[in-house]
Amino acid sequence: MQKKKGQKKSLKKSLGQNFLRDEGVIEEIIIAASLDCSDVVFEVGPGDGALTQRLLETGVHVVAIETDGDLIPTLRKRFDGHENLTLLHEDIRMFNVPQFLADNNIATYKVVANLPYYITSMIIRIFLESQLPPKEMTIMVQKEVAQRIIARSGNHTLLSLSVQYFGQPDIVLTVPAEAFDPVPQVDSAVLHVSDIKSYGGCTPESTKAFFRVLRAGFSAKRKKVVSNLSNSLGIPKEQLQKFFTELNIVHEARAQEMSMQQWKDLIKRL
Ligand code: SAM
Repeated sequence: MQKKKGQKKSLKKSLGQNFLRDEGVIEEIIIAASLDCSDVVFEVGPGDGALTQRLLETGVHVVAIETDGDLIPTLRKRFDGHENLTLLHEDIRMFNVPQFLADNNIATYKVVANLPYYITSMIIRIFLESQLPPKEMTIMVQKEVAQRIIARSGNHTLLSLSVQYFGQPDIVLTVPAEAFDPVPQVDSAVLHVSDIKSYGGCTPESTKAFFRVLRAGFSAKRKKVVSNLSNSLGIPKEQLQKFFTELNIVHEARAQEMSMQQWKDLIKRL
């Protein structure tokens, strides 16, 4: 891996500004994203444009959303004349993705980004829960978060089930902290989420029900799902145990032990 030390400008820690300086890692992200030049790619947080540069070189159209006004002039200067870049000075948390897609007649898109880690889950939700989610996401996240997202039955969390409801997450690459400047305190991983389906292939109503039950099931970590659902949703325990028997789920199951299919079956039954 070839490493280039970068600028020493005052970067904003509060905005998660750890810029990628390892060109080998940038290349791996580009490969994992398997881009076609007709793709529209959303990049949240272009920073000083290291990843943006390589994205633009593939010929895709990049929509780069950067909240730090101090970086906008640098980015404008660096990418002056690049017609395949739309640079937006916006905070992703306030940005209306569906409206932007509709206004610009964008029917499909991908997300490729080195995310600001302080809002990782929120950004993932903004895109996955959107009525028009991306086809795929290739995102740099904290390594522990990536591991939690790909967890399977036995180690499931609200986060793993929430992402796996919409698509198939895989870790493409783990990335040492030294690949960034400044060097963060955590290691990172490139996560690829493929096969993303709008509302997880279900209806908006059933998706809402799925998350309501899921949150109730995880409400007290050490308690059995039956107790959590009974306490949070007011369903009698005997009724729940009957459903569990019918669905071949042990009555003692804890939320992290149940598979995605068992959650889906249970929610249908409820
Ligand atoms: N893409 C660059 C790279 O790989 O070197 C920078 C990635 S850096 C980890 C995260 C970027 O997200 C920073 O440029 C930061 O200013 C930006 N950012 C932080 N919060 C944001 C928000 N709410 N909306 C949009 N961008 C944000």
